[in-house]
Amino acid sequence: MKKEITLLGAGLVGSLMSIYLAKKGYSVSIYEKRDDMRKGNQQGGRSINLALSNRGLKALEEVGLAEQIKRLVIPMKGRMMHDVKGNLTYQPYGKEGQFINSVSRSWLNEMLMDEAEKLGVNIHFEHRCSQVNLDTQALEFETPSGSKRIQSEVLLGADGAFSALRDAMQRSDRFNYSQYYIEHGYKELCIEPQQGEFAMEPNALHIWPRGRFMMIALPNTNETFTCTLFLDYEGEDSFANLQTPEQVEAFFKTYFPDVIPLIPDLTHQFFQNPTPSLVTVKCYPWVKNRTCLMGDAAHAIVPFYGQGMNAGFEDCRVLNELIDTHQHNWDTILPEFQQARKPNADAIAELALKNFVEMRDLVADSQFLLQKKIEAH
Ligand code: FAD
Repeated sequence: MKKEITLLGAGLVGSLMSIYLAKKGYSVSIYEKRDDMRKGNQQGGRSINLALSNRGLKALEEVGLAEQIKRLVIPMKGRMMHDVKGNLTYQPYGKEGQFINSVSRSWLNEMLMDEAEKLGVNIHFEHRCSQVNLDTQALEFETPSGSKRIQSEVLLGADGAFSALRDAMQRSDRFNYSQYYIEHGYKELCIEPQQGEFAMEPNALHIWPRGRFMMIALPNTNETFTCTLFLDYEGEDSFANLQTPEQVEAFFKTYFPDVIPLIPDLTHQFFQNPTPSLVTVKCYPWVKNRTCLMGDAAHAIVPFYGQGMNAGFEDCRVLNELIDTHQHNWDTILPEFQQARKPNADAIAELALKNFVEMRDLVADSQFLLQKKIEAH
C-alpha cells in the first residue's frame, strides 16, 4: 500500500520531490514556513537567479518539465572576464552546444509549486516546523492560527540549510555535524537594460576576478543582469570598509570601473540590499527511522560551482529511482539513498570551495593587484 509522505519545505528541492512522489501515486503534503511566494510578497535573502546545469535538467526532464523550463532560461555558453580596465576575455565552457542556463529562482520555484498542486500535492503555507520527534515521527508547527501537530509516516526534510529536521537529528545520538562559514559575504546588484537591450553580452556568465574577491553577473529574461559581489566581511578590501557612499564609489572606481555607468543607483542599491553569509553544512546520517534529509538540509554548499540546486535535484532523481528499485519499501530506500548521495555531496562541497579560489584568482589581473600592494607599502 502506498504511503502518505510529508515534506518539509516548498523550496526548489521539496517542490520537485513532491512532483516525483505525486506522479507515483503517493499522497503528499508539504509544510512551508513562508507565505505563498506566488501572492507576490516574496522575502529576499537568496540569489535572484541560478545556473541550471544538465544535472538539474535531467531531473526536470524526468518529470516532464524540461521543455517548459528551457523556454525561460538564458543559455550561458562561456565566461566573460572583465579586467580592471574593462578589457574582456571570453572562455567557452565546453564544446559547441554545451552551456549552462541562467534561470529565475522565483519563477522556477513557482512553476514547480504550480505543477505539484496540479498533481494534487497539498502545500500548507505559513507552517513553520518547530519540533520533530524522531521516534514517534510527530511534528509540531507554528501557524498564524496557533500551533498544530501532525503525524508522519515518511518524512522528507527539504527545509534548507537551517533545517528543523536536521536540528532534531543534531540532538540525537551518533549524529555528525559541521558547519563552516567562509569569510566572505555577498551583495546583489541589478544592471538595468540600456535602451531596452542587455547592457552586456547576454549569453555569458560575467566575472570580474580580483584576487581575494570577485563579482559575477548572470542575465535575466527581462534584459537585466543580477551582479553578485563576493567580498570579505572584514579586512582591507571588505564590506566593513564600505560604510559610506563615497567609500563604495571609490571601491567600484578602483576595481570595477566598467560597471559604474551600468548601475546609476549603485550606492542606493548597495545600502538597500542585504549582505548574506555563505555556509557549507555537512552531516551524517541523513536518515533516522523513516525521516530523511535532502537538498540543502543535508548538504548546503557555497555557490561557486553553481551546483547546490542541481545537486538537490539529483537527490530527487536518485530517490525516485530507488523507490522503483525497492518497490516502495522505505526501510530500504532511505538508507540506500544516503549511502548513494553522501560521497557525491561531500565531493561537490569541496569542489565548490576550491572553485571560489579558481574563479576569483584564475584570470585575475594579478599585475594590477601587485601594483596596488606595492603602492600600499
Ligand atoms: P531552499 O531553497 O533553502 O528551500 C528550503 C525551504 O524550506 C524554504 O522554502 C524555506 O522557507 C523552508 N523552510 C525552512 N525551514 C522551515 C521550517 N522550519 N518549517 C517549514 N519550512 C521551512 N545552486 C545552483 O544549482 N546553481 C546556482 O547558480 C546557485 N547559485 C546560488 C547563489 C547563491 C548566492 C546562493 C546562496 C545559493 C545558490 N545556489 C545555487 C544554491 C541553491 O540556492 C540551493 O542549493 C537550493 O536553493 C537548495 O534548495 P532546497 O529546496 O534544498 O532549499
